[in-house]
Amino acid sequence: MRILSYSLAVLSVVKGFTFSPSPRLSSFRLSSSLSDECGLDMLNPCGPDMSGNKAKGGGAPVMNEVFELFDPEEDAKLQGTGDLRARLELGAKFNLASGLNSYYEFNRSPSPPADVLLSPCQDFLEHLDSNGTSDPPLNTLKNKKPGLATVLGVGKLITNEAPGDIRHVVLSIPEGFHYTEGQSLSVIPPGVDAKGKKHQPRLYSIASTRYGDTYDGKSVSLCVRRAEFYDEEGKEVEEKKGVCSGFLCDLKPGEEVQIAGPVGKTMTLPKENLPTTPLIMIGTGTGVAPFRSFAHRLFVENTVASHMYKAKALLYLGVPVTGGLLYKSEFDHMERESGGRFEAKYAISREMQNKDGGRMYVQDLIKEDGEKLFNMIEDNAVIYFCGLKGMMPGVLEAFEGICEEKGLVFKEKMEEWKKMGKWHVEVY
Ligand SMILES: Cc1cc2nc3c(=O)[nH]c(=O)nc-3n(C[C@H](O)[C@H](O)[C@H](O)COP(=O)(O)OP(=O)(O)OC[C@H]3O[C@@H](n4cnc5c(N)ncnc54)[C@H](O)[C@@H]3O)c2cc1C
Repeated sequence: MRILSYSLAVLSVVKGFTFSPSPRLSSFRLSSSLSDECGLDMLNPCGPDMSGNKAKGGGAPVMNEVFELFDPEEDAKLQGTGDLRARLELGAKFNLASGLNSYYEFNRSPSPPADVLLSPCQDFLEHLDSNGTSDPPLNTLKNKKPGLATVLGVGKLITNEAPGDIRHVVLSIPEGFHYTEGQSLSVIPPGVDAKGKKHQPRLYSIASTRYGDTYDGKSVSLCVRRAEFYDEEGKEVEEKKGVCSGFLCDLKPGEEVQIAGPVGKTMTLPKENLPTTPLIMIGTGTGVAPFRSFAHRLFVENTVASHMYKAKALLYLGVPVTGGLLYKSEFDHMERESGGRFEAKYAISREMQNKDGGRMYVQDLIKEDGEKLFNMIEDNAVIYFCGLKGMMPGVLEAFEGICEEKGLVFKEKMEEWKKMGKWHVEVY
């Protein structure tokens, strides 16, 4: 139930939708008429009787505040009428307003996207890597013959105090385009480069599961950092702004984007024994994208994968300041709901100190937990790294130190882990 409610919070910022998460629950609909006129009060999910109510004028939600994650327990308490699940099963009304998903500031849509019909249980895309034994889809759309995706929403993920700009971009994907967790897609920015040639495609890690944040398998979400360039005096240089990331961050709902792919097998989830394989996920900044996808698949969605997954997953994420933490409220939710199986640790470099008094980076977290991590990998865990290239030297040094203490040669150990499929790196 909490998962459902949580998902509702995510979805409610994207569009109106119908949701029937499991046969035990009545399906109900969020009105797609979430306009500024209605304000947040309109986020009163309705019983089935109110489905299709578009009386209030349409428009996507406009959110300019930072909201905490919807917490059904707290929300239920606030409304004072007991357990939310019970009330939902009775088809009663409840209020999501107090708990809209955090940090998403979705732009107003020029026209409301159509409602999304959700499947009662999410199994219709499990064949993509059937039983974990086959490869994920690859290059369904080629760079030379891309497809068109439509923007459903773009939201800022970090606070204004945090440096830079990182956005969650939700795209509706072309028919027949599917992907699995850990893959990336190409975006071909419009226009031409300085030489008059079409822009090269840029790759972006996929931040949603195969079902997308809309849960219907028809969308994909990206986590995009706007690439900026500053001169020696700290002034931004306009002509050196990142072409594709700027394009993605500035998109408005309804606009179109050329995409190709999906690509990548490096960061996919283990093919064998996934339910009992612990995951260690080490990321910096937007490197969190594939890990959000993994975590949603294993701890949030109503899929066979999440029902079967019994192992532990550890996330180590590095960001510069607290306001730059990505998807934290989602990860908090997973920590609360997973019974200790999902754990997130943060290295907030400009605010936290490592044990030597220096800035705290992910490699310092690795050092702190060195013994544990080493033993987990030696046992049956799989480790993933994703983010900026610059993270790797420190990370490798941390593992080198752990191995040295054990009288082992790290390079040999890493080769062994790679051969066993336990060591996965995607940095850019
Ligand atoms: C597998 C993979 C996954 C990735 N996943 C993600 C992801 O999830 N999220 C994400 O945000 N990125 C990701 N990237 C990076 C992404 O592909 C792009 O490289 C990134 O967005 C920058 O592209 P751009 O077009 O905005 O910048 P570009 O226009 O290509 O510019 C690149 C950089 O050069 C600087 N620059 C531009 N012009 C000049 C100049 N004349 N002189 C000096 N510097 C200049 C820009 O400021 C920018 O920092 C990934 C890359 C790979 C390979």
